[in-house]
This record gives sequence, C-alpha cells and structure tokens, in this order.
Amino acid sequence: MTDPCSIEPSGLMSIDQALQKIKESVKTIKDSERVTLKNALGRVLAEQVISPINIPPERNSAMDGYAFSSLDIKQNQSFILTEAGVSWAGRPYLNKLKKGECVRIFTGAVVPEGADSVIMQEHVTRSENNIFFPATTKALEYVRAVGSDIKINTPLLSAQKKMTAIDIGLIASAGIYDIPVYRKINIAFFSTGDELCSTDHELGPGQIYDSNRYSLNALLCDKNCHFNDLGVIADNKQTLEKTLLNAAKTHDVIISTGGASVGDADYIQEILNKCGNVGFWKIAIKPGKPLAFGTIKDCYFFGLPGNPVSVIATFHKIVAPALNHLSGSSDQKKIQISATCTSNLKKQPGRQEYQRGILTQSKSGRFHVESAGKQGSNIMSAMSKANCYIVLPVDCIGVNAGETVTVEPFDTVI
Ligand code: AMP
Ligand code: MG
Repeated sequence: MTDPCSIEPSGLMSIDQALQKIKESVKTIKDSERVTLKNALGRVLAEQVISPINIPPERNSAMDGYAFSSLDIKQNQSFILTEAGVSWAGRPYLNKLKKGECVRIFTGAVVPEGADSVIMQEHVTRSENNIFFPATTKALEYVRAVGSDIKINTPLLSAQKKMTAIDIGLIASAGIYDIPVYRKINIAFFSTGDELCSTDHELGPGQIYDSNRYSLNALLCDKNCHFNDLGVIADNKQTLEKTLLNAAKTHDVIISTGGASVGDADYIQEILNKCGNVGFWKIAIKPGKPLAFGTIKDCYFFGLPGNPVSVIATFHKIVAPALNHLSGSSDQKKIQISATCTSNLKKQPGRQEYQRGILTQSKSGRFHVESAGKQGSNIMSAMSKANCYIVLPVDCIGVNAGETVTVEPFDTVI
C-alpha cells in the first residue's frame, strides 16, 4: 500500500492531485460474489458479461401488419396477396410463405420463412382473405434481424460497470440469471464533538444537533456498501483511539467528521499519527478545510471537517470517487455545463471553490445559475436550496452577474 504520509503535508494540493494520490493508495476490492439481477442495482461488475444468445434470437416484426416477400412487389403498382394465416407474438406461423401469400403479423411475432418484409396494417386494405398492397409498398421494412441488437458471444457490459436499471434490463434480455460483482465494502462512520446532540434528545446548553451522521448515512445509501453508524464520539483521546482501532478491525473504510483541525479539542490528527499511517492534507478547495486521509491497519480512513456543508462537499469531491475506486467502479465523470451567472459572487484567489447554486433552464434552452445564498460552510439552508455547485477556479477573484461560469449539477453522473 502506498504510504499516504509521503504526500507533501505542507502547501496546498489541487483537487486533481489529491484524487490521483488517493487512486494510487487505494487498492480496489478483489473478492467477488454472484448476485441475482434483482439484487444487482448499484453493484459493480467483476467481469465482463458476454451474451449467450442473439438478441433478437429470431427475426421478428417491428409493427402490427402483414409479412410478405419483396419478390411479390410490383414496381409502381398496387398488388393483392392472400392472407395465409397469422403469426402472433409467441405463437409463430409455422409454414413457409408461398408466392402470392402474406401473413397477418403482430409486433414481436416471428417473421415466417419466405417473408422478408412487413407492411403496417394502416397501409393496406382487405376484403375477406385478399390484402391490397399500395403501389408505394417498400421492400425489407419493419423486420428486426437476428442479433440486430446484440450478437451472440459479444460483450453486453464491461467489467467495472456499475449496474444501472438499464444494464439490468439489458442483461435480463440475454436470459442471464446472475452476474459476478465485487463484494460490498464495509464502512464505519462517526461524528466527534462534545457539543453534539442526537436528534432524539432535547438540546442542552451549548449543544447543537448532530447533522453530519444523517448526511453521511444518506450519502452512503447511494453507494455500494454496508455501513455502520458508530454514533457520536466525545472529544476524548482514549475513546477516539479505541473507536478507531476497533472499527479498523472489521471495516474497509472509516469516515469521521469534526475534530480534524488543529484546535485544542481536535484529536484526530494526533491519534492517527500514533495508530495509523496518516497524511493530513491541505487541499486547495472550498469548502473543505484540511482533510485527513490514510490507513489504520488495512482500513482506509477519511477524516472530514466538522462543518456540515464541508462534509457534504468533501464527500462528493473526495470520498465518493475514492469509494468508487475501492469498490471497483470505473471512473464516473461529473457533467459540467456552462451557465450565465445571475448573481455577483465573491471569491478570494487561492482555492477552487464549489459555491452552492440554483441552476435553471430558460424556455430557449439557455442555462442560468444564481447563488443559493450565504456561502458559509455551516449554512445548510443554502446547500439545501442548491441543485448544483458553481465551480470557480483557483485564480478566480469573483464573478459579476452576466458572466459565464462552470456548473456541476448535483445528480448527473454519466
Ligand atoms: P470541528 O471540525 O470539530 O472544529 O467542527 C467545526 C464546526 O462544525 C463546529 O462549529 C462544530 O460544532 C460543527 N460540527 C462538527 N460536527 C458536527 C456535526 N456532526 N453536525 C453538525 N455540526 C457539526
Ligand atoms: Mg469539534
């Protein structure tokens, strides 16, 4: 395992450098298991999946209409064919089509031998068994060829693909019952701070409610993991040390919030230097104060800041990509779009900022973004109103209304 302490602790690191360092240090899970498709959502494929069949397996009709042979078409003339039978979806017409014959056919039904074309039912007229085809009848339409979606023995999905609902539908269409996926990662998380009160208690003097554990719980629901909420841990060296060492025995990852800076009651750095292999980083992003990343035994550790907005932003920008990498998932790039900023935005140079914004699209299709409000790292109300980050580069010194900015919508991942 790369020693994260080798990461230069002084000076500011760009977010790209930080992510690169994490990628080098975090080793992807190797163990895999098989899961049925109903349990596959969000799991990461450990091997590519090959289609054992052609899809469709037989030629079938793309329309309700009549199947016929293009040899029966009369150039620029209408013609009449005799209806010889019906091909239903799941109940094919089993005879070979003879010259002068057609077959009533429905969408998804097998196109009988001898036919190579289908005409939509709206384009013909019928009188008893005689079907009148117009002069405009075209050859070879509306027949789905064998394997026209997927050919037998070709890949359906690549290894490292995180399974979506669409992927599951695709795999099911090939008749595959279960798939090999990496095992889920085990994550423990806790909050630190003597001032923190759980939501099921009355606030005492000097207390605030612990919101970070609830944010983390919800953020992790979306990840491919088992997670374990260890509660609020007091600002006490012995308790923190015991909690970390115990959790490291049975988890792949520990995430803490708070206590990570250099205040008198901030013990994370000290304990981790003693028990683990920890680099404290100053990443050139805002929000996101110094963030701890390292290892305790074979467990990865992320020490996030205490302020609730910083927790969510550092989770999005640092922890989520690291968890994706650990769980075997290939890179997922966030979509960035350009939008006209309708607010003045203040910014000091030196750090890349992820300001909270509200993105809208006008009737003409143009994107506009306004500030979601106060940008303090404790202001959750603005974060909750926001639907995007406004990404302001390191050297930006503010934005005037009317200028174009880069925006990252919260929930669009390719
Ligand atoms: P710290 O990093 O421990 O100095 O915390 C920074 C700020 O975040 C302080 O104002 C804390 O009270 C606040 N904070 C820390 N942990 C939490 C939490 N779990 N929920 C809400 N606020 C917190
Ligand atoms: Mg604290």
